[in-house]
Amino acid sequence: MKIKNQIFDVTIIGAGVTGCFIAKELSKYKLRVLVVEKEPTVAMGPTKGCSGIIHAFQLPFGSLKGKLCLEGNKLMDEEAKELGFRFKRVGLLLICKSFLSSLVARIVKPYFSRYLEVRYLGEEEIKELEPNVEAKGGLLFPSGGVVNPVEMTFKAKLFAELNGVEFRFESKVVGIDVIDVVDASDIGNIGDVSEVGEVGGVTDSTDAMDTTMGTVMDTTDTRDTADENPYFEVTLESEEGEEKIISRYVINCAGLYADEIAAMVGDKIKIIPGKGSHVVFEDKDFSYHLIAVLPLMPERKTKGGGSLVTIDGNLIWGPNLVDVENKEDRSVKKEEVDALIKKHSKPFKKLPEKAVSVYAGVRAIAGKDFIINSPIKNFINVAGIQSPGLTAAPAIARLVVRILKESLEKKGLRLEKKEEKSLKLISSREQNVEPICHCRNVSSDEICRIISDGAGTLDDVKHLTGATMECGRCLPAVLQIMEEKGLPLRKDTCKSFIAWRD
Ligand SMILES: Cc1cc2nc3c(=O)[nH]c(=O)nc-3n(C[C@H](O)[C@H](O)[C@H](O)COP(=O)(O)OP(=O)(O)OC[C@H]3O[C@@H](n4cnc5c(N)ncnc54)[C@H](O)[C@@H]3O)c2cc1C
Repeated sequence: MKIKNQIFDVTIIGAGVTGCFIAKELSKYKLRVLVVEKEPTVAMGPTKGCSGIIHAFQLPFGSLKGKLCLEGNKLMDEEAKELGFRFKRVGLLLICKSFLSSLVARIVKPYFSRYLEVRYLGEEEIKELEPNVEAKGGLLFPSGGVVNPVEMTFKAKLFAELNGVEFRFESKVVGIDVIDVVDASDIGNIGDVSEVGEVGGVTDSTDAMDTTMGTVMDTTDTRDTADENPYFEVTLESEEGEEKIISRYVINCAGLYADEIAAMVGDKIKIIPGKGSHVVFEDKDFSYHLIAVLPLMPERKTKGGGSLVTIDGNLIWGPNLVDVENKEDRSVKKEEVDALIKKHSKPFKKLPEKAVSVYAGVRAIAGKDFIINSPIKNFINVAGIQSPGLTAAPAIARLVVRILKESLEKKGLRLEKKEEKSLKLISSREQNVEPICHCRNVSSDEICRIISDGAGTLDDVKHLTGATMECGRCLPAVLQIMEEKGLPLRKDTCKSFIAWRD
């Protein structure tokens, strides 16, 4: 039967940052794991359109997203080291334009200090740190940081792949059926989970996390299924047609479409899209921290955006929040750009000189908090992962492993760790080779290296190196290198650009 090689312990739907970090954590165990992604590469949804901030905190601290944000932020140095992605703790500076707001900042500081490091800075100290900022005082949170979200996700995928996780791109999940399996031997040998009591089980830092917090629900299943031991038959649609795989567990990390996936197993989630636009400036050394003005004036459901530095030292202003009907609406309107510039220019003495591009991402909003639960046996939702989902991704991954472990333990099974392979860490950028992208100082060697690391599409190359992202004059040279490396040209399924793949 064709199904023989199509049996997995865990199927993860979605290769955004959460799907890839869960895959990375699960790859450390003796499991057969599949990641299914409808796009040609990783991070093509909100992950690509986000601001790249590793948030210092998320309010309220007691919410699930607040707790996972703090946890994810703390884990980021370890993750960056293990996976070899760039991560800088540039610090978050909340500045006060008046004596009254600086007084308020001093009053609220002790509250923040209960959760993370924070310092009050006076006018002179701020001038020293940020000569271009005019402020009466401010709060500095040194743990705020920046990453390239595509690089972070790509590296998690590489690690997972190296450790045996299978990825299937351009495959869309179009159906999930719970199937009746009386005896697992009916469908072959599933995984290497062992009986509780055998040597090889695992306890790790995830045990420290309190699963009763926020909307993480008791993993006791809330609905009866036909079977005490349910398996899922997952239908995938690709250019080659439909195929079915069988999986013991399914993890729904489908971002904006997590509601459609949940509905396939009879669960109701409503995802509301919320677009966030950004303006990117060429100016370097304009400012050095993530900067926002107190009081934060959050736009409904967001932190209100700010003046942000990127991992490459550029400047970004945004994001805002605009209600959209269409989950794929990533248009940026002129009035949004004008409003962003008006809002974020406030703290600065001199303004940035050259806006080079704009971009937007669409948040998957399902109420006020993340939804991480198990509505039916063996099915886990990781849904409504709005901001700070990028920051929280490593903590979300550990939490999901814990939920999986608890579910297996109830069946008298346990996860077994395996010997992991480490990623060959990224070499530093070639500085001595003439760049082909002068805007971002990217050489042909850098592009060749990223292709040999596994970049298969133009989107990968763009987002991992920065080439073609500004004036675009290097595009022909980049395409030529990709062709020489054997990546044939074809139309992108995302309709936005040409993509390459092997
Ligand atoms: C404007 C904006 C700014 C943000 N800024 C920040 C920030 O600075 N810091 C921060 O911490 N967070 C930020 N966030 C939040 C962060 O981007 C998200 O929380 C995170 O990217 C969510 O990742 P995900 O993997 O859950 O979802 P996604 O990135 O949406 O990934 C889901 C994947 O599932 C795939 N998929 C969907 N349906 C199917 C199907 N049927 N079959 C197969 N595949 C499917 C999609 O193609 C997609 O690749 C921001 C978000 C936005 C929109």
